[in-house]
Amino acid sequence: MLRLLSANAYRHVGDYGWHANDRWWGLATFVTLGLSKNDWSAVRAPFFDNRTVSARVKRSYGGAHEVTVGFKIANSKFISPVMQRKEGIFMKIVQECDLTAYNTYRIVSVARKAYFPETVEEVRSLFVEGDLRKKVILGGGSNVIFSYSRYDDIDFIVLRDNFSRLSLDGQLMTAQAGTLLSEMIERGYESGLGGMETYFDIPGTIGGAVVMNAGMNEDEISCHLEQVTWLERSTGAIVSKPAKDLVWGYRYSEFQKRERIVLEAVVRLQAGDVPMFRKKRDDIVAKRHAGQPWEQPNAGSVFKRPQGRFVGQMLEELGLKGTNIGGMEISKKHAGFIVNTGGGTGADVLRLIELVTVTVREKYGISLEAEQIVI
Ligand SMILES: Cc1cc2nc3c(=O)[nH]c(=O)nc-3n(C[C@H](O)[C@H](O)[C@H](O)COP(=O)(O)OP(=O)(O)OC[C@H]3O[C@@H](n4cnc5c(N)ncnc54)[C@H](O)[C@@H]3O)c2cc1C
Repeated sequence: MLRLLSANAYRHVGDYGWHANDRWWGLATFVTLGLSKNDWSAVRAPFFDNRTVSARVKRSYGGAHEVTVGFKIANSKFISPVMQRKEGIFMKIVQECDLTAYNTYRIVSVARKAYFPETVEEVRSLFVEGDLRKKVILGGGSNVIFSYSRYDDIDFIVLRDNFSRLSLDGQLMTAQAGTLLSEMIERGYESGLGGMETYFDIPGTIGGAVVMNAGMNEDEISCHLEQVTWLERSTGAIVSKPAKDLVWGYRYSEFQKRERIVLEAVVRLQAGDVPMFRKKRDDIVAKRHAGQPWEQPNAGSVFKRPQGRFVGQMLEELGLKGTNIGGMEISKKHAGFIVNTGGGTGADVLRLIELVTVTVREKYGISLEAEQIVI
């Protein structure tokens, strides 16, 4: 690791986390790894939770390889270097990866291994023939339920933020799958382009939005897409198709079959008055925050909307609002959401889903279908 760091063949210095009490230990390691004085200024966006202080550091050093180097420190112990070489490619790989920050329910779960690819080649290298380990893609983790507290048989591939290059050509924006929707919208505004205001506070990636055909009311992401590029898991082929030639439905896309990894999407933005776009965005955000439980961890609407009925309204009529199992609760603010009130697990969510599904079927004769993806 030291050799690699001094070899000038790396471009990224990755995630650092250290226990609050281990701060100096962590910084000492930072120095030991041979980073120069200037690197201190590269420590950006530290975030604090109840146990750890972490910071993401990114610096470009040029060189032939994309390398992410990082390490994890907790309880005064250096736990794991997270950079590994795979198929001749360097990428960040985290052993014993705490997935809490990678799902918006904030369900505590640990993956034996998680990959953080930054390029198409890195993504592709994870689907080589003969590798039989199951792999699940995570975008923003804003529509998933981790049903296990530990995953030994499934590896995770996290795309949010790291697989997130973005470019503009006229009104067409091309974004890699891990780009956050909010980032795409802001970048559009910087170039006088808008039109995707509905998506600003959907806390997912463009890849996840394509898979879920995310949207609000009649506005669905598929209406904004020009083209989607994906990787066929079985053959390793990279395929692009115009969005109009793909099958879309209400919260449905053909990418839900899990045979395909969305790599890139092209959206068409509209030229217009940016202050007006911003005003529209702010109005949508204010309305959503007033009616939905943004103060508590959740993963959006739990169920798809059945024909002619609103789920939240039905659950309110049934007196289910506020019902809790373990640390999960049917939101008191909007019964269509389940929120984590502290220490909630995926099993708690699934039991609430079961309770709601059975009760609604009995009382209304309606079969609810969960929108969220159980992993
Ligand atoms: C507060 C809140 C509000 C929300 N509001 C809305 C809303 O208004 N409308 C709406 O539609 N949704 C909403 N959602 C749900 C969620 O944000 C969307 O479904 C979003 O599009 C999911 O994107 P993601 O990147 O988080 O996907 P994830 O949750 O990470 O993944 C969802 C599924 O897609 C798969 N996947 C992700 N990326 C890829 C890829 N690149 N290739 C192949 N498979 C992939 C995953 O394996 C998983 O099966 C909300 C969620 C929250 C927390």
